[in-house]
Amino acid sequence: MPETPAGEDDSTNAAAAIETGRLLFTQECEFVMGVRTEAELPQPELSEIAFAGRSNVGKSSLLNALTNRKTLARTSNTPGRTREVNFFRLGGTLMLVDLPGYGYARAGKEEIARWNKLIEDYLRGRVNLRRVCLLIDARRGVGAPDHAVMDLLDKAAVVYQVALTKIDKEKPGDLDKIRQTTAKEISRHGAAHPEILATSAAKRWGLDEARASFATLAESLPVADGPAENGPAEIALADGE
Ligand code: GDP
Repeated sequence: MPETPAGEDDSTNAAAAIETGRLLFTQECEFVMGVRTEAELPQPELSEIAFAGRSNVGKSSLLNALTNRKTLARTSNTPGRTREVNFFRLGGTLMLVDLPGYGYARAGKEEIARWNKLIEDYLRGRVNLRRVCLLIDARRGVGAPDHAVMDLLDKAAVVYQVALTKIDKEKPGDLDKIRQTTAKEISRHGAAHPEILATSAAKRWGLDEARASFATLAESLPVADGPAENGPAEIALADGE
């Protein structure tokens, strides 16, 4: 067997994974539906990855940046839509599910209860839900509402992966420390995926790695000579709530 220099296989695999992720996210991404109650939830169709985070964490901006689209977040930020579970079909192989932001400072008890019920209803028995991407603002860190959601995810036995957002606001030297603190915070929860993503929608940092990670969950992967006309678009940071 020919010998391979140490590390060469790893970097070849990593490059292939990045390319697969890039190709997947150049595929068409269409809004399927927004859901407010359990009864409206669509039948499981594709593997799903759901995105959750406190309101203002940068979820819409990250979804825009990942998919190179401005309209995606516009759809979810349409008044009313932020309280829905929004489904987006990506390339016919993966469903991106945008969960309503939680921990909104001015939310009343009723609203919080409604959010919890909708999320619990969604999580319960959602056999095709492969992962929840839990967004954490790098500056704010993991807070009480995030732990509450992780408890919910633990109970539902759903694997979740933390993605730090807005890392451009941090000094480069601080990122390792933030990762370590975050890893420690989530270590007391059972179902956390060990890889912590670090992203900035504003600077487009960490998007390749995130796409590569999510692409491993797709049903079937795009072939290398597929359409790739969807070049880097302008950055569309969503307006805050
Ligand atoms: P959502 O409520 O979680 O959907 O958050 P948004 O995507 O609407 O973003 C909330 C605020 O954070 C907006 O003012 C965005 O412009 C800002 N924001 C989002 N992503 C980034 C980022 O990567 N870097 C910086 N500096 N600001 C961001």
